[in-house]
Amino acid sequence: MSREVAPTGFAPSDGGKGDGPQFASDNYAGICPEAVQALLAANAGQARAYGDDEWTRRAADRLREVFETDCDVYFVFNGTAANSLALASLCQSYHGVVCHQLAHVDTDECGAPEFFSNGAKLLAVAGEQGKLTPRAIADTVTRRADIHYPKPKVVTLTQTTEVGTVYEVDEIRAIAATARHHGLRVHMDGARFANAVASLGLPPADLTWRAGVDVLCFGGTKMGLPVGEAVLFFDRALSEDFAYRCKQAGQLASKMRYLSAPWLGILENGVWLRHAAHANAMARRLAAGLARRPALTPLFPVRANGVFVELPVAVEQGLRARGWLFYTFIGAGGARLMCGWDMTPATVDRFLADIDVIMGAGHA
Ligand SMILES: *Cc1c(COP(=O)(O)O)cnc(C)c1O
Repeated sequence: MSREVAPTGFAPSDGGKGDGPQFASDNYAGICPEAVQALLAANAGQARAYGDDEWTRRAADRLREVFETDCDVYFVFNGTAANSLALASLCQSYHGVVCHQLAHVDTDECGAPEFFSNGAKLLAVAGEQGKLTPRAIADTVTRRADIHYPKPKVVTLTQTTEVGTVYEVDEIRAIAATARHHGLRVHMDGARFANAVASLGLPPADLTWRAGVDVLCFGGTKMGLPVGEAVLFFDRALSEDFAYRCKQAGQLASKMRYLSAPWLGILENGVWLRHAAHANAMARRLAAGLARRPALTPLFPVRANGVFVELPVAVEQGLRARGWLFYTFIGAGGARLMCGWDMTPATVDRFLADIDVIMGAGHA
């Protein structure tokens, strides 16, 4: 997601231009207050290193409570590490991983899943609205059964999807059933899992292990944490030696409490779901506003915190000239407008007002 950043080191400072509220990504947002509080609490004195501390134990326990099961929990630096190490733990180097063709693991992780699995091949599949279907998965894994093709072993789903849609619980169940039938494990890239839970209004367990998901990479960063994702193994047999995998990959934080403690701040009292629901509501407000303007109907149903819309060139350029940042290379084309936990109605309205000014100026 960083193609607009200089590929070699960091560009010179622009004096902070463009560092205001943005729609580029939900990872532009800062740390939510509850996570800051928990971080400060964890900073009051010394604690054991490498995850052997009270904060990490409590955060893992809290995740087990939220998911209503005795899962195995790990905290890593980012989503790329979480996904690629989790996938590596599910397959051998000669295996195949079925994913959607827009999946972050395939398009935005610089080959990390293949690298950490020592060569497992991602089998990218098309699908409406950013989603895999049982049919597409079955077609992919039954197309070949000979020794010359990688043996399909895992299916990975992104929840919410890369185009801002969500898998319904029935869809997850059906995919997991198909996966089981073909001997595949189920991995979920939950970089925006919180937004999906807030959207669907179901217990996290219903959307994961009860539906047949084996491993979840639960995103913290985009939810309001400073940094870090949790990897949850619902089938503990699959996490054998995962700690070694993390250490070898440079993902065992010695001051682990700073990765884990912020989770305590947001997992209490449903804070995480409140923030996610707010971000989703801001996306709906934005989508509704766009739909009231001529020819700016969102490209996908807005189910979470992202809005995709085809902007006339003049509108896109006009918005950029006014300092708005957003990506246009992600997903199926169009502008991707993301709302983080800190998005305000005023920012959404200012963006829409800028569109009116640009369109009213006769450019569109
Ligand atoms: C943001 C994101 C990730 C994680 O990306 P990192 O930059 O590696 O933290 C993973 N999957 C999806 C779908 C994402 O949007």
